[in-house]
Amino acid sequence: MEAQTSAAVGVKVNGRVVGPIILLGPPAAGKGTQAKLIADTFGIPQISTGDILRSNVAQKTELGMRAKAIMERGELVSDELVCDMVADRLEQADCVRGFILDGFPRTVPQAEWLDAHLEKMRRAKQGDIVAQQACAAPVVIRLVVDYNVLLQRITGRRSCPTCGRIYNVYLQPPKVQGTCDADGTLLARRPDDAEDVFAERMKAYEQQTLPLVDYYRGRGRLIEVNGEQPVEAVMAQAFSAIENVNRL
Ligand code: AMP
Repeated sequence: MEAQTSAAVGVKVNGRVVGPIILLGPPAAGKGTQAKLIADTFGIPQISTGDILRSNVAQKTELGMRAKAIMERGELVSDELVCDMVADRLEQADCVRGFILDGFPRTVPQAEWLDAHLEKMRRAKQGDIVAQQACAAPVVIRLVVDYNVLLQRITGRRSCPTCGRIYNVYLQPPKVQGTCDADGTLLARRPDDAEDVFAERMKAYEQQTLPLVDYYRGRGRLIEVNGEQPVEAVMAQAFSAIENVNRL
């Protein structure tokens, strides 16, 4: 397998180190839901570039100010801004056993940057095999979902601003309409889930993110899962792929 010369694929479920996992897929494919489940099960952090950007927008940081209008249009924030943001996040202590990337990389230059960055991290940890496995070549789980299914998911999607739990008014409604089952917070709709912005986000996905399928397939790191199945079935396939990854 290419790109695995200096480190094995970074998932070792029965040992201590899980390593990097990437969730790849269009908006509303279920990346956030699966990322949370994987993060909770394997005890590694979920790093969602969309969540970090939204939090910067809410806090009106300099990064947030630069990203706000771009996100509102459904376009992609520049590779440089997003890569710097991810580099900072990967320095944090909770990434020592691995991490799950949700919404990153989204362009080929971001994927190339990530490979080079992980290689640099591994070099800095020479002699410490465990630390190197935590930043080994990532395993990529692609969630495949049809456009019309995505549209239904997007128009019905609501999330809890307090705990981040995700609902769908048609497919997975909360027990009490409009409020979170876990903490009773009023559910919110993301502004970029409006249909016209969704169309832009899909365009960005098809033009800029879809080439990553070939990028990772060519490197022997891609696992494809049918994302139209119920959450538990998707989860079972993703988990089995993670558990078997050393044999790929
Ligand atoms: P998401 O929550 O992943 O759908 O991301 C929401 C928005 O944040 C996207 O439509 C982009 O504007 C921006 N964004 C998130 N991740 C990235 C990324 N890796 N590269 C560029 N822009 C991103």
